[in-house]
Amino acid sequence: MSAAAGTSADLRLVDSHCHLDEARFAGDRDAVVERALAAGVRQMVTIGAGEALQANFDAVALAARYAGVFATVGVHPHAAASVTPAVMDTVQKLATAPKVVAIGETGLDYYYDNSPRPTQQEVFRRFIDLARRVQLPLVVHLRDAFADALALMRDEHAAEIGGVIHCFSGDRTAARGFLDLGFDVSFSGIVTFKNADELRAVAAFVPADRFLVETDAPFLAPVPHRGRRNEPAYVVCTAAAVASARRQPLEDVAALAAANARRRFALPDPEP
Ligand SMILES: [Zn+2]
Ligand SMILES: [Zn+2]
Repeated sequence: MSAAAGTSADLRLVDSHCHLDEARFAGDRDAVVERALAAGVRQMVTIGAGEALQANFDAVALAARYAGVFATVGVHPHAAASVTPAVMDTVQKLATAPKVVAIGETGLDYYYDNSPRPTQQEVFRRFIDLARRVQLPLVVHLRDAFADALALMRDEHAAEIGGVIHCFSGDRTAARGFLDLGFDVSFSGIVTFKNADELRAVAAFVPADRFLVETDAPFLAPVPHRGRRNEPAYVVCTAAAVASARRQPLEDVAALAAANARRRFALPDPEP
């Protein structure tokens, strides 16, 4: 199935993870949101957790500005070493702002190791605890850290709040572990890449009510946009790749992924 099949406005997609606050959108953000709506992407979850605390304020402001945009608040594992009790207090206060739908992205990134691993682990624990206290789902970023993450999440009773493993890059065994813990799997543009056969096998294997799609824009543009700036409209390409892997029509997969995102983040039905 080609991505071009999904250009109609009758698609109703949700981009479950994007970074609309990024500087690369500063010049044309209104047009980016308009193109998403025109492509059938009715709702977007913009992630507050950049490298700096300020990103959270930006995400909350974007959610206030655009009807279809919702926000998360947290601190990326890359920046775990910057997390102080004052930072946690600020994130907790922002978690109660209008249209904040999740805590994150938080997690473990052992590929870049931008913060020391013990610090990443300690901060991840604190964000799981915060999510449980404020009763919001978690958006979890994991890279080369699946076994540690699964053990840590079990230890912290993350199943009580659940959430999403965003930009999932593991195999079927890892997916099974997180699904059993009550976490959904979100597919990014990686699922469109040539060398992603195992990820497409995960896409075929995940239950119909447990997967989401996302762009992680401006990063990780899907084929055929690979190498350029990513934007929420391109989530259609990712949904098409998941549909192809599942041997299901794009329209059905888009509707399933959107319904799953709406349920997970308690999003309202989009305006007709
Ligand atoms: Zn991430
Ligand atoms: Zn992200």
